[in-house]
Amino acid sequence: MAHGECNCGAVAFEINTELTQIYVCHCSICRKSTGANGIPVVVVNNSDFRWVRGEEHMATWKKPDTDWQGWFCQTCGSPLPGANDDARTFVPVGLISTGGENLKVAHHIWVDSKASWDEIGDGGKQHLQAFEG
Ligand SMILES: [Zn+2]
Ligand SMILES: [Zn+2]
Repeated sequence: MAHGECNCGAVAFEINTELTQIYVCHCSICRKSTGANGIPVVVVNNSDFRWVRGEEHMATWKKPDTDWQGWFCQTCGSPLPGANDDARTFVPVGLISTGGENLKVAHHIWVDSKASWDEIGDGGKQHLQAFEG
């Protein structure tokens, strides 16, 4: 069981499964959305994910002409979990406050389009584009 929340605490959630694998997306859209080198996420089954509070504080934005959609807190701007499809939810790893002790970076995706200054230094497998594993 893992718990997480945004910076201001308005939005909180829990995940009812053990978290082990982090995916880091290095694509240009994730870079702009975080202001960083990309975004690390865990992917969980929708059935293992539950909002504790604050869904009404969420805003979303879909990038026109792409499949990319992001969710964030209307108050503090933290990125938030979002449904990838009917089966799975993406959870930005930095939101997780308890239950993430066994997490490790397992995969880097869209390495093909990472920033020139972004040096990947961990043991995660590098994939040039998307990867589903
Ligand atoms: Zn917030
Ligand atoms: Zn991305």
